[in-house]
Amino acid sequence: MIPFLDLNQVNAPYIQKITEASSRVINSGWYILGNELKTFEKSFAEYCEATHCIGVANGLDAITLILKAYDFPAGSEVIVPANTYIASVLPVNYLNLVPVFVEPDPRTMLIDPLRIEKAITANTRAIVTVDLYGRSCEMAPIQALVEKHHLKVITDAAQAHGATYNGHKVGSLADATAFSFYPTKNLGALGDAGAITTNDAQLADKVRYLRNYGSFVRYQNEYQGLNSRLDEMQAAILSVKLPYLDAENERRREIAGRYLSGLKCKELVMPPGDRIQDDAWHLFVVRHPRRDELVTFLENNGVQTNVHYPLPIHKQKAYSALKDLHLPLTEQIHREVISLPLNPVLTDDNIAYIIQTVNQFDYQ
Ligand SMILES: *Cc1c(COP(=O)(O)O)cnc(C)c1O
Repeated sequence: MIPFLDLNQVNAPYIQKITEASSRVINSGWYILGNELKTFEKSFAEYCEATHCIGVANGLDAITLILKAYDFPAGSEVIVPANTYIASVLPVNYLNLVPVFVEPDPRTMLIDPLRIEKAITANTRAIVTVDLYGRSCEMAPIQALVEKHHLKVITDAAQAHGATYNGHKVGSLADATAFSFYPTKNLGALGDAGAITTNDAQLADKVRYLRNYGSFVRYQNEYQGLNSRLDEMQAAILSVKLPYLDAENERRREIAGRYLSGLKCKELVMPPGDRIQDDAWHLFVVRHPRRDELVTFLENNGVQTNVHYPLPIHKQKAYSALKDLHLPLTEQIHREVISLPLNPVLTDDNIAYIIQTVNQFDYQ
């Protein structure tokens, strides 16, 4: 069986360095808000071409902290993509803001800039763009809307470490960008971790307070903050892995290129083949009208796949208030998507076998 993702194998090349880094942290006697965090924040800011990086506990908190720092009045509308993971939207509700769902461009499956403008009202304060599957959203038209309507743009880049758009890194393109270093991400820790990047010094400063109970000087609390810190152990591990991110993303691009040219199965809708080099290829998501049959066929032939995601947010029990909302493009995507294995440890033989097996689906 070719596993969808084997984290043991993904981390194997770095285990010796990770073990050394972990021992260093254990022996330092300093586990929270120390030099390991400072070092990682500096290198990740540089990597993202951003002036500030603030390490936080996870990707969900990164989005929450950005929205909390902006302090929009309760009831303000925040535009969100309808096709995303639930973590992109939950923070909007936590802060008593109103998520306004916008359908994707069916070609990219990312939020459709043309539909965003129609969703903007006098009450809109921000747009959350999600670089889903590893591809940056079309930021030029979105930036134009943001300027025209005086909004903030927040990017959820949990799946897009190292992606670029018009020659600039994801992490430098929005007012603030949220990253997750959940173990399965392109840059993954060995536990939960996240970060915020921004070029806005004031926002960076406020988030630094908010992640630490609203405090910078001990026992003096300027805000009602959270406890959301990136610990020294995870920071040290991320510093080990960051220098290899570009090479890993390059391998992902190579694999994506092979899939794009090799997959010939009828009715299979491929991800866009333009901008291969800009994309971080976190996931290789194709669509098929008989998705569930394809999943079973691949499973029976030794290829493990995944579905990102099976049920849209507005159809989740947690969002039962929205159950009558009809978002046909998003619903169709959730019925049809299937993610093929795409990770840096796949061998050329694995990829050839996956392509051959998918192409046999028409002839079973
Ligand atoms: C993983 C992910 C998150 C959440 O990250 P956590 O670190 O698990 O909180 C948010 N948005 C997207 C698109 C993700 O893929």
